[in-house]
Amino acid sequence: MNKTLIRTISIKLDRGEHEATLHATQQAFNAAASWIATVCWQEHITNTNTAHHRVYGETRRRFGLGAQLAVCARAKAVESIKATKTQQSETCPQFGERGSLRYDARTYRLLSLDRVSLNTLQGRIVCRLILGTRQHEMLVDSTWKIGGADLVWRRGIYYLNVTQCKEAPDLTETNETLGIDLGMVKLATDSTGESFSGIKVHEVRLRYQKRRQILQSVGTRSAKRRLKKMSGREKRFQKNTNHGISKTLVQKAVHTRKALALEDLTGIRARVTVRRANRSERHSWAFYQLRIFLAYKAAWAGVPLRFVDPRNTSRTCSQCGHCEKANRHSQSSFTCQQCGFCLNADYNAAINISRAVVKQPLVAARQG
Ligand SMILES: [Zn+2]
Repeated sequence: MNKTLIRTISIKLDRGEHEATLHATQQAFNAAASWIATVCWQEHITNTNTAHHRVYGETRRRFGLGAQLAVCARAKAVESIKATKTQQSETCPQFGERGSLRYDARTYRLLSLDRVSLNTLQGRIVCRLILGTRQHEMLVDSTWKIGGADLVWRRGIYYLNVTQCKEAPDLTETNETLGIDLGMVKLATDSTGESFSGIKVHEVRLRYQKRRQILQSVGTRSAKRRLKKMSGREKRFQKNTNHGISKTLVQKAVHTRKALALEDLTGIRARVTVRRANRSERHSWAFYQLRIFLAYKAAWAGVPLRFVDPRNTSRTCSQCGHCEKANRHSQSSFTCQQCGFCLNADYNAAINISRAVVKQPLVAARQG
């Protein structure tokens, strides 16, 4: 059996004239879920069926929920009861009036592309979804099956978090590997020599850093607000860049029928040498995100992803195999002390990474 892949699309909702209805539904739903959780907690119920029979009728009478919303409230309550049991928590889960509203296939429906029909206390209402390009692409991708959704409320805005799932494709069977070296100046360099510049990201980061320092020294409340907003923008820029790079690399692996190889995370941390602690944190966070994106995009596309021992990948000559620290005499250039071979340092490392994997015993890519 292949794994099931799950992803979530977070979409802003245009609530139109429905704020009161949505809020009232949210309130009733979470009050119901809290009450159900209390009942299950006190009566030691963790079984879904038992819970259903115990609370269904009363949920509808007490909170005025329709049949399907009552079922969803029970699902939310029982799920978090189960979670507290596994976490061995001593407190019964309760939900605030602005807690999330769970929707399943029977309580919400995506209509034409940007409309959604939602079950509420007042019957069904239709709201518009505010879709960005990527969200739109994800939503119309018919290889993914649309599952349930959570309606969440954050600082006055509703978001519909739509879940999609599909069966993971079989991993491509291949002995060839595209090695990827992650760096600072070049965010990623692959073993064919293609690189993805981090200059733009670096520039944006520096720009924000300067502004951050000014705002930090100001220290007023409005300065703090602006700081927060800025950090959001910087993060989004970083995220978009990482999405782009990981998408390109995975597509390249698909088209050339190759596996992907990366260094082990610990190796990358060790190689990021930056002066300031906070800068280093931002960097490793960005690296971490790029790796996560690569990992799940590879899984979606059936591309095997392998991790290699990072020791010596940057100081070994990809031509003759000679390993010496002096081979890499600067951040960007590699010159072999034995054979004189010269190459961009990241490119040389990526070649080594691609080969390190081939030397490992190949794990059967077949399923089961
Ligand atoms: Zn050499």
